[in-house]
Amino acid sequence: MHQTLRFLSGAGCDKPAHISSSMARFADVILPLPLARYFTYRIPETWQESLVSGSRVIVPFGRKRYYTAIVVHLHDNEPQGYEVKEISTLLDSDPILRRPQLRFWEWIADYYLCSVGDVFKAAVPSGLKIESETQISCNDAFVEGESPLKDREATLLDTLSLHEKMSVQDLEKESGLRNILPLVRSLMEKQAIVVSEELRHKYRPRTESYIRLAHIAPGDGDKLRGLFEELKNAKKQLRLLMCYLELSRFMQKGELREVSRKELLERAEVSQQILSALLSKGVFENYAKEVSRLSCQPLRTEPPHPLTTIQEKAYRAIIERFTTHAVTLLHGVTSSGKTEIYTHLIDTVVRQGRQVLYLVPEIALTTQLTSRLQRVFGDKLVIYHSKFTDNERVEIWNNLLHDRGAQIVLGVRSSIFLPFRDLGLVIVDEEHEGSYKQQEPAPRYHARNAAIVLASMHGAKTLLGTATPAIESYYNAQSGKYGLVELLTRHEEIDLPRILPIDMGDLRRKRRVSYDSNLSPQLKEACEEALDKGEQIILFQNRRGFAPMVECRLCAWTPRCTRCDVSLTYHKHTNRLVCHYCGYEQEVPTRCPSCGEASIVIRGFGTERIEEEIHHTFPGYPVARMDLDTTRNRKAYEQIIADFEQQKSRILIGTQMVTKGLDFDHVSVVGILSADTLLNYPDFRAHERAFQMMEQVAGRAGRKNRQGSVILQTAQPQHPVIGQIMRHDYAGMYATQIAERQQFNYPPFTRLIYIYLKHRDETTLEAATRDLARRLYPIFGQRVSEPHTPPVARIQLLYIRRVMLKIEHTASIKKVREILRQAQEEVTDDSRFKGLIIYYDVDPL
Ligand code: ADP
Ligand code: ZN
Ligand code: ZN
Repeated sequence: MHQTLRFLSGAGCDKPAHISSSMARFADVILPLPLARYFTYRIPETWQESLVSGSRVIVPFGRKRYYTAIVVHLHDNEPQGYEVKEISTLLDSDPILRRPQLRFWEWIADYYLCSVGDVFKAAVPSGLKIESETQISCNDAFVEGESPLKDREATLLDTLSLHEKMSVQDLEKESGLRNILPLVRSLMEKQAIVVSEELRHKYRPRTESYIRLAHIAPGDGDKLRGLFEELKNAKKQLRLLMCYLELSRFMQKGELREVSRKELLERAEVSQQILSALLSKGVFENYAKEVSRLSCQPLRTEPPHPLTTIQEKAYRAIIERFTTHAVTLLHGVTSSGKTEIYTHLIDTVVRQGRQVLYLVPEIALTTQLTSRLQRVFGDKLVIYHSKFTDNERVEIWNNLLHDRGAQIVLGVRSSIFLPFRDLGLVIVDEEHEGSYKQQEPAPRYHARNAAIVLASMHGAKTLLGTATPAIESYYNAQSGKYGLVELLTRHEEIDLPRILPIDMGDLRRKRRVSYDSNLSPQLKEACEEALDKGEQIILFQNRRGFAPMVECRLCAWTPRCTRCDVSLTYHKHTNRLVCHYCGYEQEVPTRCPSCGEASIVIRGFGTERIEEEIHHTFPGYPVARMDLDTTRNRKAYEQIIADFEQQKSRILIGTQMVTKGLDFDHVSVVGILSADTLLNYPDFRAHERAFQMMEQVAGRAGRKNRQGSVILQTAQPQHPVIGQIMRHDYAGMYATQIAERQQFNYPPFTRLIYIYLKHRDETTLEAATRDLARRLYPIFGQRVSEPHTPPVARIQLLYIRRVMLKIEHTASIKKVREILRQAQEEVTDDSRFKGLIIYYDVDPL
């Protein structure tokens, strides 16, 4: 019981994370599973003194399974009513978490209505978590004499000795014994078996060999002179010694520089044997040192660019707002120099010895910012995102955990989980971006909002920056909750791009654009002119693949996913039909499976198809495409961006990936190819989002040199949002949107919670949804909406329903949580609804 209470109240987590107690016989741990509470394990006597909270242990859980868990509390209260299992293995003698990480995890779990186990899973790189199928092997050094084995133990050990290593599960099968966990445990205690190394340390550090003097300390002149004397006839050895002294700065005051074997040999230009001789004489000793996979030599750094007068004013205003506000919004038009201002702020904070977290919404942006920031901050900067290998991510984790020099983390949303020592500033760049919200799986957190909470736990300030603030953020700034600083002119006072709306409906009716084209004559002309002048072009089409629609011209058959309620997208490059929800693929039929005619046609435009049309229209010009299909790995991003920066490619086609903060010098034309899919999206945020996306992509044009132009193709040129884009009228967009939000009681005036229900069987799902709504209605009244069937009503074989809750900000989220948990329990306990999945999306986007 006490675990549950502690979990809900979040109490106990304020305790210093590093205290061990010699009294503690029990540990409450977090398992990487969606469990609503902590689990208590007995601490083996040998570790009762060494176990600390925040460190990892391996524990048995359920039948036949082991997991890596994180110790949260140590205590001496024996749980009642069930048999307490024992911790199997201790993985760390020091915590892998720092304050306030546990408290932050608990906040996320509480606020986003998920379990701390979900947060653990998302927060810690998998290299630090052992797989559930733990591998074990015999310990070759085991001698039976000291600790005699029982029969069952001996049988187990015999079976295991036939293999190099085995999973506990396989061992159970093959030995024919049942319930072997206690045996494995006792064999571990007797040190007859070991958890297989490679799983135990899934992360393997890269080490390098280093050299140091064995017995002489700096300043010990006598010993050193003795050594010179001793080596005076061995010229090469002496040279090696001198080189070492020089490289290590042995004679200078201050810390010794570490010298790697490789560096030393290269400098002295002597052979391995010379070094070996000095090693065997005991003059030098060898040691291994973990080296970073991440970077290279310390980089030479330069000061940040001086700010212009206008930027300087904004910079001062931000610092001034921070004296009264924990959060400040920098609303600066595209290319006004926000990044330059961030750089100055980071510089200030880093000089104070504090850390900075710089969040960006998209991996592509880290690529471009890396070189801009590295120029100033050198190897104080580290980058963190999912396209790094697991080992690289563990390395960054350890760098921060052990204070190995990283002071600035540039990363995407998951970087909020790193073990920061002392954050002084959090920057959320392009704060309006939807990709800050994690959709699937839990925790469904919003990295901007979570970062604000994290910052406050560190006593740090948060700067939100964007040209197109989220309605919520601007509202908070207007109402005084956040500080506000506005920067409304571009750097060097270049005008914002000119927007030219093109009526595609009209052009198609007049047949000036054929059905298989998506380029208006105006766009072609603008592109041609730019290419002639040696300038570059960005084309934005918010769909990947070749064509979003395939159908039979005669009977209107369309291919649909067998597992999801969506039609398949045609990918010409692979000649397959693909489901963008579950990845299901199939061949393109040559004849219609329904009527048997060769009458299959494609409709609509994806990035692939645009690329093809551009190739035909502007032959000879190099074209690049940036979407999910072309950026499967980190190198691919870097390549596409570098090529475009260096003008190796002239036209860049992409999905929303190209709309976000990229900074290119020679783009003069931007084409928005289909504004309508953005405008017509069925969601209360559609217009806000359409404005943001189009204003942002427009902002890629004319950043340097002179005004750029944007060709905006739409079938609704009279649409109010199009007018707002033409005038770059953020304030106008905000005014219409905020009025609507107020009228219909949407955020920021209420807090939204979507309750999702999923089941394989639609009838069962309907009944369960009605049952849940019926339980909530008496408590929440009008705050509960009618159950809703989402536009994509089935994904991966599961049908989906949604119930929406609109909660006042004054309401206690804790109470709401209790009510929802209670209702959820009642519904899922109902045997009629077996297999039902319920989860929550708090502050959905
Ligand atoms: P934003 O982040 O607001 O879009 P950036 O900081 O990327 O704007 O600035 C746009 C371009 O202008 C960049 O290429 C940047 O290097 C340049 N720039 C902006 N301010 C300065 C400055 N003070 N000194 C030199 N270059 C600047
Ligand atoms: Zn047909
Ligand atoms: Zn599918």
